[in-house]
This record gives sequence, C-alpha cells and structure tokens, in this order.
Amino acid sequence: SEELLYQSEKLSAVGQLAAGIAHEIRNPLTSLKGFLQLIEMSGEGKPEYFEIMKSEFGRIEQILNELLILSKPQTLEKEVCSLNSLLDHIVTLLNTQAIIKNIYIQKHEKSKDVYVSCISNQIKQVFMNFIKNAIEAMDCGEIIVNVNKDDTYAIVEVIDEGCGIPESMLARVGEPFFTTKEKGTGLGLMVSYQIIEDHGGEIEVESKEGVGTRFTVKIPL
Ligand code: ADP
Ligand code: MG
Repeated sequence: SEELLYQSEKLSAVGQLAAGIAHEIRNPLTSLKGFLQLIEMSGEGKPEYFEIMKSEFGRIEQILNELLILSKPQTLEKEVCSLNSLLDHIVTLLNTQAIIKNIYIQKHEKSKDVYVSCISNQIKQVFMNFIKNAIEAMDCGEIIVNVNKDDTYAIVEVIDEGCGIPESMLARVGEPFFTTKEKGTGLGLMVSYQIIEDHGGEIEVESKEGVGTRFTVKIPL
C-alpha cells in the first residue's frame, strides 16, 4: 500500500540521516581522543579522570558504529548471497562468546539453497544483532537458528531460551534507544528493522517471559 511505502521511505531517510551524522561526528571524535592521549602522556591530570573520559569515548564510538551500519555503500549494487554460508560464518564468529556462557548455537539447514539479493554486510549485522541479543538474554542453554524458505521468502528464525520480553515491553522493542541493559545502546533492533525493511522483508517477534524469544526474519528470495 502507498501509505506503507511512504512510511518506509521516510524511515529510510531517517536512517540515512542518522548514519550521516554518525559519520560526521567520527572525525572530530578521533581528534579529541588524540589530544586526550597527548595530555595523558604528558603526565598532567588525574588518572581516574582519563579512565572516565576513555570509557565515555568508548560509549560514543559504540553508538556511532551501530548507526554507521545504516550508511549505504556508494554503489547500491546488491549481491546474491547464500544465507546458509552467511549464517555459518556468523555462528562461527559468535560461538566463542557463546561457549564461555555454556550456550550452544545450533544451526539447522531446513532448506539448502537459500539465496537472497542483499547488501551482505548489512544482513550479516542483522543476524549478529539477533544472535548477540539471544546470548545476552541467556545464562546457559541452546540457541536455534533455522534457515528455510517458502515460495517468496527466505525465512530465518533465531530461537532462544532466555529471559524473554514482557508483553508490556514488546511494543517498545526496536524503538531507538530502548534498552533494558546497563551497557546497551538500544540501537541494534532499530537498525535491524531498518535494514530488513530496506530489503523488502519483515521481522516478527514472539516472546514469553521466562521462557524465551523467537525472532523470525523474512527476506524476499
Ligand atoms: P541492546 O541490545 O543494546 O539493549 P537492542 O535493540 O538489540 O538493544 O535490544 C533492545 C532490547 O530488546 C534489549 O535491551 C532487550 O530488553 C530486548 N531484547 C532484544 N532481544 C531479546 C531477546 N532475544 N531476549 C530478551 N530480550 C530481548
Ligand atoms: Mg542488542
């Protein structure tokens, strides 16, 4: 529908703006960090102040990095990529983090040839966000990643046995800066929703407090 399309273009423009601002802030930030380092090396100032400033710089960088994912490459060419290999790669990357917490990530290839035309770095980031959130929601247990397809969509499910999302919060998940974590940014899901929308797909979430959460991502084949 037209209204929906308009809405989605508007969202996309906001994403581009956010990424643009993040990009512009990065240079002066790098310069500030350099001068901070110089002052620290000169031996002036209290060490505990430097620690606070460095940690705050780290926080700003974390926020900028999440927003920068929304910037599109100059060449808007999408590439065809296999979701199975993309997810194998991500599971390998995140397994080290998971194993420390006694969490096992199981990937199931329910369909073999699941190819989508996409900006692969962005799609990678989306699944990194979902699986990271799953790891963060759990003390131990299993995360299941199902890769499947129907006639029109590639369908990926990320299912965890974590803390779940209370019904009262479900609507707020994906809102910019909505987080329940002390060190969270509340940008991961917002960025993921934006990317999947840009790709013509959709995201569904089902969750039960104390039982777990299932995110379903659909991307046009
Ligand atoms: P962040 O991870 O920085 O908090 P996100 O946008 O990734 O930001 O997630 C927003 C919030 O949604 C989280 O703080 C958490 O409360 C909730 N959430 C997301 N994924 C899950 C999950 N798998 N299980 C439980 N809660 C989740
Ligand atoms: Mg997150």
